[in-house]
Amino acid sequence: MTAPEERTSPPGAARSVLFWDIDGTLLSTGGAGRLAWARAAAEVWGRDLDPASVTTAGRTDVEIAVAIGRRLSSEPREAEALRLIRRYEELLPEQIRGGAGLVLPGAREILEDLAARPEVTSMLLTGNTEAGARVKLRQYGLDRYFAVGAFADETADRIAIARKGWALATRLLGAPPARDRSFVIGDTPHDIRCARAIGVRAVAVATGPYSAAQLGAHQPWWVVEQLPPPGTFAARLGLGSLALDARDAAR
Ligand SMILES: [Mg+2]
Repeated sequence: MTAPEERTSPPGAARSVLFWDIDGTLLSTGGAGRLAWARAAAEVWGRDLDPASVTTAGRTDVEIAVAIGRRLSSEPREAEALRLIRRYEELLPEQIRGGAGLVLPGAREILEDLAARPEVTSMLLTGNTEAGARVKLRQYGLDRYFAVGAFADETADRIAIARKGWALATRLLGAPPARDRSFVIGDTPHDIRCARAIGVRAVAVATGPYSAAQLGAHQPWWVVEQLPPPGTFAARLGLGSLALDARDAAR
């Protein structure tokens, strides 16, 4: 007996993959990430670090750890940077729980809408390590929307993470995703570069440290002040209106 076809898209049809950045795009930890880095750094190097001086936007966790090491130590070693990352991951849940973070406007509604679309796959494409990413997403109830993703664990380089994400999507779907219906959604010029590197469209959202004008200068496919309602988002991305029609009919 043949198992029923899990997907409703026609056999062989290329599918849409949405590669999601986390910080500044789906959520803000309200500075909890910086505080966790500063606390971890104080433990590893025994020196105080002003949390406000930690630049995180668009940088991978490995890049952040190396930059902190260079500031606090004349001879930072790889083992110390790794110890810093592990300690940061351990301190992060407590910092987030006590912090003023939030899910950014529209994010939860869009992820919920996408989850109902069998022809669309949402994946993470993030400079977070997987442990750090999962802590953040779990805290805000977004973890369940992402079975898989490409993280910073094996590489400091964002473009390499993007390529890893593309390879993962291809493996998962059994064929390369449709490039003209696949997107990187992020809040920094680095995310736009990632989209370009894997030949998909960039959706830039100005809910991080960059304004819509600043992001627009990097020529993303679409730039928005904040994520729009799910229907608007799906229509602009050309994801079709089947799920919406079904939902409307059920009302
Ligand atoms: Mg970001």
